[in-house]
Amino acid sequence: MDILEGLNGPQKEAVTTTDGPLLIIAGAGSGKTRVLTHRIAYLINVKKVSPYNILAITFTNKAASEMKDRVEKLLNASVKNMWISTFHSACVRILRDGAERLGYKRSFVIYDTSDSISLIRSCLKELNLDPKYYEPKGLLHTISRAKDSLMDPDTFEKETANDFRSKNVASIYREYQRRLKQLNAMDFDDLIMKTVELFKVHEDFLLQYQNMFRYILVDEYQDTNRAQYELIKILSKRYNNICVVGDDDQSIYGFRGADIRNILDFERDFPNAKVIKLEQNYRSTQKILNAANNLIAHNKGRKGKKLWTEYEGGPDIVLYKAEDERMEARYVVSSIIDLINRGYSSSDIVILYRTNAQSRAFEEELAQYQIGYRVVGSLRFYERKEIKDIMSYLRVIQDPSDEVSLLRIINEPSRGIGEKTIEQLTEYARSNGISLYEAAKFAGDTDLSARQVKGVLSFVNIMDQLISFKDDVSISALVELVLQKTGYLEILKSENTPESESRIENLNEFIGAAKEFEKDNPDLVLEDFLANLALVSDIDSLEDGEGVVMMTVHSAKGLEFPVVFMVGMEDGLFPISRALDNDEDMEEERRLCYVAVTRAKERLIMTYARTRNLYGRTMVCIPSRFIKEIDIPDFAKEPFKKRSMSVEEPGKVASSKEKYAVGMKVMHKMWGSGIIVQVKDMGSDKELAIVFQSVGLKRLSANIAPLKVE
Ligand code: ATP
Ligand code: MG
Repeated sequence: MDILEGLNGPQKEAVTTTDGPLLIIAGAGSGKTRVLTHRIAYLINVKKVSPYNILAITFTNKAASEMKDRVEKLLNASVKNMWISTFHSACVRILRDGAERLGYKRSFVIYDTSDSISLIRSCLKELNLDPKYYEPKGLLHTISRAKDSLMDPDTFEKETANDFRSKNVASIYREYQRRLKQLNAMDFDDLIMKTVELFKVHEDFLLQYQNMFRYILVDEYQDTNRAQYELIKILSKRYNNICVVGDDDQSIYGFRGADIRNILDFERDFPNAKVIKLEQNYRSTQKILNAANNLIAHNKGRKGKKLWTEYEGGPDIVLYKAEDERMEARYVVSSIIDLINRGYSSSDIVILYRTNAQSRAFEEELAQYQIGYRVVGSLRFYERKEIKDIMSYLRVIQDPSDEVSLLRIINEPSRGIGEKTIEQLTEYARSNGISLYEAAKFAGDTDLSARQVKGVLSFVNIMDQLISFKDDVSISALVELVLQKTGYLEILKSENTPESESRIENLNEFIGAAKEFEKDNPDLVLEDFLANLALVSDIDSLEDGEGVVMMTVHSAKGLEFPVVFMVGMEDGLFPISRALDNDEDMEEERRLCYVAVTRAKERLIMTYARTRNLYGRTMVCIPSRFIKEIDIPDFAKEPFKKRSMSVEEPGKVASSKEKYAVGMKVMHKMWGSGIIVQVKDMGSDKELAIVFQSVGLKRLSANIAPLKVE
């Protein structure tokens, strides 16, 4: 196969300009990743470069394995051991080779976030500092940012420690590094920082790798941080064959230390750099590109480029205003059903949202219609740790003898109730024929130490109190009480990291789910709520490559889909609220929106709601400013056929007029004919169990399932 086949002029030039520094700066979908892949094949096949003299960096492991696959196809040969990998994997490989020079053993271990946090805890103890004031996750974040910019503890102290607290933070950083080394361990950020250190200190070692990596290629260059930049700069110094591809308009990891200056300064740092622009887009229709171009033109400080495509026409972009977030989900899912009926496969479709908490409404609606889905890059809503925790609390309140749930939360948040304590309580329970929860009340009668007894009893106290509230307060109020009384929320708040923030958002979203349930089912109680949740959270898992895809915009980078739904297009949500009064954050949000728009190949559907319950609050929403900036004169008015179920009608779905009974034959929009085998009363709705010829047994809501009695 000719390697230059299927490339346009500038792409060919980018592939064949093999020597010297090269910056390929190009918009989304213009073939940057494709160029890198062909370039590797070209170097090997035409330039006869040994595969081991090439280092190619991708942003994710998945992208690395895809790139390997493509190169293998182009070369018709295996490239298994080639250096096509992420920065982190490449650095591990280098460090296995050289870590001894830094005083580590070859067999050093790699700490993940939770290992790092326990180590920070132990450092705090060592230094006699209170974890309440020096929150471990927050500290790890600070240390991580320092490492991203290659600041060791000394530099960090010199540059940032100017008051009592920051001096202590510097000491924690120093102690943390000392302990890591003592334990022969490195955290994720060390992998990059230590590799750079190794190269800076040991010239012969550097020389060896400079000679090896004669050709260096980096994808998604706009999202590299300073440490990664230093690394490629130092490695490429000898041969100077460095090719980076990126799009300044798609830099979206500023909050993780990515430095957009790396792309803007490339020409200065690599004199004689050649710059190639790719402007033809092969991914999207002209209508989608116009939207992307219009939007991003609102950012200042760009290199400036415009995309075009030969793919004129295409369907109009759809803009849909929903009454609230549930109507939004209903509209999206009904459109998905329509698209599937028109021949799209469910995996052609992606729902993109700004924050993970937004997935809940869509998950529930898709589950209702038994449409398979995958939540990528994060767990399904009801599988997230904090949601499982709160559900376990509610289950114990409902039924204190539920041991599985009890064990999940007895030490969550941490109350010093360790495994030994639990063992003893369990033994006491077994020998006295009582439940574990009952046994906990008698902790004083066991051999536990006074401190352990205190921990257990304080837990029982809180739970007894919550149990006594159960029948007097609403479900949502009960959830709030649990979060307060157990200190769960407090601890998350004090962590103050993007991760803890997202957990809080999810919990608030859970409160919202409880409120919705109360509104729809005023007569139902906690037990019903829990039963309902069990149904939603129990959908079969899917094989890879099946089902509607759901993810945040961040995780969609580099991907493409025939159909893209961008949901929650509201000011304060997308752009996110903290960007509203900060120009820099706003520009990053706009780039994020640009990434979202440019994932679409054929159809782009944007939705927003007039009011939204999110994080447990109801807000009146303003459409996202990005919609105006996208500036489409004619959004499609009536994009999808009206469904048999009314998608536009606000408020509750009217109670079903059909009288369903066991034995009745019904026709379902997607699955064809089936027979009702069970009818369960669910308050204002009925749950129907139907056996379909096509798909077997399904449980559906009588109110909204697209059913007709035959
Ligand atoms: P992003 O900025 O989103 O990462 P990208 O610039 O890396 O995008 P690619 O993913 O490489 O773009 O390419 C986008 C799509 O266009 C892919 O489906 C790719 O196969 C196709 N494509 C790229 N160049 C050509 C070409 N010359 N002829 C046909 N198809 C092409
Ligand atoms: Mg790409």
